[in-house]
Parts: sequence; structure tokens; C-alpha cells
Amino acid sequence: MKNYITHDEWSIVENGFHAEYNEITESLMSLGNGRMGQRGNFEEHYSGKSLQGNYVAGVYFPDKTRVGWWKNGYPNYFAKVLNACNWIGIDIRIGEEVLDMNTCEIETFSRVLNMKEGVLERVATVKMAEGRRIKIHSKRFCNMADDESGAISYKLTPLNFSDYMTITPYLDGNIRNRDSNYDESFWNEVHKETGPSQGYLILETKPNPYGVELFQVATGMAFNIKLDGLETAYQPLPVEMDRYVAGTVKVEVKEGQELSVYKYGVNLSSNNYPTESLLEECKAYVSRISEKGFDHLLAAHKQAWAVKWERNDITIEGNIAAQQAIRFNIFHLGQTYTGEDERLNIGPKGFTGEKYGGVTYWDTEAYCIPFYLSTAEQKVARNLLVYRYKQLDKAIENAEKLGFSDGAALYPMVTMNGEECHNEWEITFEEIHRNGAIAYAIYDYTRYTGDESYVNEQGLEVLIAISRFWKQRINWSEEKGQYVMLGVTGPNEYENNVNNNWYTNYIACWTLRYTLEIIGKLWTQDSRKLNEIIIRTNFSLNSEMDAWKHIVENMHFPYDQIRQVYLQQQGFLDKEILTVHDIAGERPINQNWSWDRILRSCFIKQADVLQGLYFFEDEFPIADIKRNFEFYEPMTVHESSLSPCVHAILAAKIGLKEKAYEMYVRTARLDLDDYNNDTEDGLHITSMAGTWMSVVKGFAGQRVKDGMLVLNPYVPEQWNSYSFRIGFRGALLLISVSKSAVTIQNSSDKPLDIMLGSRRLFIDAFASIKA
Ligand code: BGC
Repeated sequence: MKNYITHDEWSIVENGFHAEYNEITESLMSLGNGRMGQRGNFEEHYSGKSLQGNYVAGVYFPDKTRVGWWKNGYPNYFAKVLNACNWIGIDIRIGEEVLDMNTCEIETFSRVLNMKEGVLERVATVKMAEGRRIKIHSKRFCNMADDESGAISYKLTPLNFSDYMTITPYLDGNIRNRDSNYDESFWNEVHKETGPSQGYLILETKPNPYGVELFQVATGMAFNIKLDGLETAYQPLPVEMDRYVAGTVKVEVKEGQELSVYKYGVNLSSNNYPTESLLEECKAYVSRISEKGFDHLLAAHKQAWAVKWERNDITIEGNIAAQQAIRFNIFHLGQTYTGEDERLNIGPKGFTGEKYGGVTYWDTEAYCIPFYLSTAEQKVARNLLVYRYKQLDKAIENAEKLGFSDGAALYPMVTMNGEECHNEWEITFEEIHRNGAIAYAIYDYTRYTGDESYVNEQGLEVLIAISRFWKQRINWSEEKGQYVMLGVTGPNEYENNVNNNWYTNYIACWTLRYTLEIIGKLWTQDSRKLNEIIIRTNFSLNSEMDAWKHIVENMHFPYDQIRQVYLQQQGFLDKEILTVHDIAGERPINQNWSWDRILRSCFIKQADVLQGLYFFEDEFPIADIKRNFEFYEPMTVHESSLSPCVHAILAAKIGLKEKAYEMYVRTARLDLDDYNNDTEDGLHITSMAGTWMSVVKGFAGQRVKDGMLVLNPYVPEQWNSYSFRIGFRGALLLISVSKSAVTIQNSSDKPLDIMLGSRRLFIDAFASIKA
């Protein structure tokens, strides 16, 4: 755990340069706008530890799979989110010396991510080799109001000398993914061009044998330079090298003068423009934004963030570390996915790093959807569902590759375009519970929004295909006289190839039940629509439904009568049952133990039985939830970032307030304090939604029951009060919870009935109530 980030309500602050943690800080201070994202790198050359990263949404490369022992059914490639052309670079030479924070003496330094405005700012004074002191002041943003662009203001002031400075704003396509399997570069140059204070570079992904489309990204820049805020005469010298364009400017700067470089960058991808017109579009875009100028662009960008915060902010009184952490989580979720484009999704690292590749895991459905449902327009969550609908055919193909048939779908564990990319057998073939989360998200969306159009128009097809998969994956056990599901990996990846993982069995049966229910409903509401779906899916109404019902009624769920707990899997109690206290000093076990020892132990990576009790809490008495929590939580090592939040929510529900808070802190400051020693690889974006849920579903007890919003709030002892904003069925609510009262303010024209505990309250349009 690190503790070098200064606590602040609205900002992430690094005071004094921590070179050893630079890659962590770069992750923490990443910027994005849903369309592109940039790590918190320096603009000028830096020879120290750094992962230069610029990522363009939806652009990937199918990197050849690397495994020790090939198994049939493995995907041939692993899609990597591509590290794209560096658009932020500005090299500086003073006299003959290159400005490099790694080689000069740093006198003062602060790097601040202003989350309210979405701006990264750095102010430093440094001493160069010959005693020359210089002040650097940079500001940049990825424009939230114009989402294929970013802008930089970069200022230098010589403090004790006058000399020529050579300024080289550039675009550099000589960039490699750190996670490349064979250390290959993934880009070819298609075109480069320089103009007066401008440069353009079009890169294309290298050809691949997997039939994956090639992407082109056109990156463009324009820059201008001022002295003491005034236009100055300069003649940029164009530079063109392999996959590189720049304009070099030499300016004489006197002691105390401020030299400002304004650089505008644009990333356009062939996902959004025909390749024939990419260059022209890029030029027009660059001219449009550079004409507006930095201040004008910044004002629109800030305004776009203000609108977001108006909908999704959480305030916490009485604990700055907690306040900073929750905003940090909300900020990164807001800049990773904006819901504008149904082809995009939320990668576990967003635009902040490369680990994990792919973009879409079950994380989206199980963790992220509730966040976007409450804090953004309805279409944002809906687009995440549409994304899966559009990939249904691929999910069916994916299941066929594994031997399933007749329209059964297995969604991939990780994907870009619907094809499976994961290549560890115990996950690719066995961690099939992911299918259930995709079904659950349809239910979650429908329950929250009351909008049945998705499930009726698209969702039911997904449900039928997933249900068909469960039907074929489950088999009848003569010995048990029940249905069983063999050879799976549950959410707890520290167990592989187990039989009857309770969670997977449960979510499979739940999917069957839910699909039956939706078919029944549509039958009465709109039989013509149902008929269309029956024809499209070649659904055999009676026989398929009967088979599903039989499974639902006869599924095996491992249970221990003595402890009265659901067993994570068959045989779980053969293990030596210990608690995490017994292995203090040996954690994280994934870094200290052999895999074999992990598999044999009782230790649990992340919520498994408890994930099921969290999803389906209404189907279990609270005493059951408590008993299972008390049995499993002490064995849980939380070595997945997705784990603490589910425990926080459940602990809050069953009244274990201290535990809930402990889990909250762990999820909220996971990256800020680098709990898992891996923030340098990028941030845990999807678990950030879990942090938000820990407050809203955990401490505030937000649920939806029978179409009504339910709240059961309390204030953790460590805070004085908190407030959060959510939207619900057209109403926009600000909910403030103090130790003595709950205030709910409706800032919309939509009146609403809600349940506060067991009390039904009416909140009129633009009214507020205190209870
Ligand atoms: C977790 C998975 C998760 C993945 C991506 C793994 O460590 O065990 O549940 O989907 O990370 O976040």
C-alpha cells in the first residue's frame, strides 16, 4: 500500500515528484472522454520509468495467442486495446540540452488531476546541468465536449538565463503495446504529412490471418507558440521520419519571459469515418479546434463535466480521503464510457493501461450497469445491452466451437467484437457463469427503468440463447436423481473444474426461470411479437420450455445441513477450513503461493456464493444471507478488485457496519493507495462501479422493488453525512443522509413515490422532503 497521494476533495495531487511511482501516477492521472484516453505522461521527453499510453476506443489488434499447451477450442488471438500514436509529445531543448525530468534536478513539483474539470496540470521548477533553472507549467484535457480531440497548454519560463529554446511538438507512431505477446509492433504507416505548425499521421493495424478488420487511425496536430502571451514570429521546420511527424521551432526566450505552446490533437478512427476521407476529416477537425483556441475549448469541456457531476456526484462530509476516493471512482467511470456508441464497452482498465486486453468482461453486466442506470441517461445502460444483442450471433458461434448446438449461446469471457479472446482453459471453457450475468443485466435494466421494450425486442432472443446453453451444459445425474453442472469455474477463480458450483447452478436456473417468465408475459401482452421471436429463433415452445422447467425443479444445489450454508461447490467441506487470519503475512496468496496450493486451499479470491446472494437477495431470508456471509467472508482474500464491493453491500444489508466500512475503504482507495500493487498496469475501472454501489446500494440501501425506488440509508460512523444523486424513471433526485435525517430533493418535473425504509413517501416535482 502506498500513501503518497495528497488527500483533497476534488483533486488527485502528487506533491513532489515520486519517480519510483511514476507509472502508478500516470495511471491515476489518466484522462479520457469515452472516445480516447491518455495516461498521465509528461509532454516533454522523459527517460525514467514510464508507460506512454494513448488509446482510441474500439481500435484493437488480434495478437497471436501465446500459451504453453494448446487446447482445442482456444481462440487464435487475443484482442489488445491498441496503444496508439502519441499526440501529446513536445520535446524541448534548451541550448544543446534536452529537458528531461529524469536527468535534471527537480526543485519543486506538483501534478494535479482536477476531477471537477477533467484537467491534468503540472507545475515544476527544475535545474538543468549548467545550473539553468526553468519553470514548467502544463495543462491538458481530453475534450469531453468534442470527443475525438484533446488540447495542451505547455509553458516554460527561464528563471535565471536567456537562451534559444528548441520546441518540437510531434506525433509519434513508433509505439508498442507493452502487453504484446511477441513484442511486435501492431502498426503500419499509411500516410504522413506536415504543414505550417501542423502534422498528420495515419497508421493502420498490421494485416492479420484471423479475418479481423484492419483499423486506421488518423492523428492530427496543430500548434502555436506565444511569448508572454503575445503572438511571436517563428518558422517551424517540418520533420518527417518513419511513423513520425513534427515541427521544430527555435525561439529566443529571455529570463523571466513565458513561452507558451498550445497543442491540439485529434484521433479519428476508421470505425467512424471512411478511410478515403480520414485525412480530410482530420484536417478539418484540427482546423476547427485550433481556431477555437485552448481557453474556448477548455470552457466547453468544463461545462460538459459540470453537467456530468450534476447528475452523478457523491459528497461525503467528515472524511476527505473517502470523499476524494468516491469522486476518483466516479470520474474515471465517467470518462471511460459515455454511452454514445453501442459498439463500445467498458474495459477493466479503461484507457489507463494495457493489462487484460479486450474490453468486455462480465464486469460490465455484473458491476457497471447499476452505476450507469442511476447516473446517466437510460440509453447509456441500454446501449451496453444492445452491444451484447449485436454480438449474439458470435456468441452462438462461440458455443458451436465448443460443441453446443441449436442456437445455444456462450458469450465470451473477454471480447472486443464478440469473439472469445481468453485462452486459459479453466476460464475460457469453464467460467461460464458470465452468461448468467448477461441475462441478469437484462433483468436489472428492466426492473430499474420499467422499460420493457429492450427485453421484448432484443433481450428475449439473448435469454433464449443463453437458456439453451444452460440446458445443454447441465446433465442429469442418475446417482443424485437431480440435474448437475460439472467442470466449471465459479467467480472465485481460485477453484477450477469443480462440480456444482452453487453460484453457477443458481444463476443458470434463475436464467431459465426468468426466460420462462418473459415468454409468459409476452404471450399475454403481445403474442404477435412472441411469434416473431419464436420463428426467428426456431424455438420449440412446448418441448424447450418443458425441459427448462424440469431443470428448474430438479437442480442440485450443494448445501451443508449442519452449518446451514450453501456450498461453494460439491466437496468444499473436504478442505481444511481456515480463515485469512491463519495466513497473515502470506498474502496476497496469488503472489506467494503455488497455484496448486491455492486450488487446494479454502481461500476465496472474490465473492462466489455471496455473489449469488447479492444478486438474488430477495429469494433468501436475511438469516441465510448472514450465515453464509459469516462462513465465507473470513476465507475471502479479495484478490480480485471486484470482491470488496459485494461484501460491503451485503455487510451493510445484514447490519455489519464496521465490516461494510472496511470493505468500502478497500474498494474505494484500491488504486489511489495501490492496495494490490498493480495500479501501474492501469486502474481497476470496472470495480469502480462497485465502489459507487457500496455507497448507494450499501450504505444507502438503494433497491428497486415492485417498480418503486427503495432506500434504507445509514451514515457510516466515520462520516458525518453524505449525499448522492441518482435518476429514477425520469426523476432526478439528490438524496442527503445525515445522522438525524434524510432529505430527498426532486429536481425534475416528474413526481415520484418512493419507499424510505417501510414508509411510502410522495415527492412532488421540484419538491423536497425531509424525513
Ligand atoms: C476476476 C474476474 C474479472 C477479471 C476482469 C479477474 O481477476 O477474477 O472476475 O472478470 O479480473 O476484471
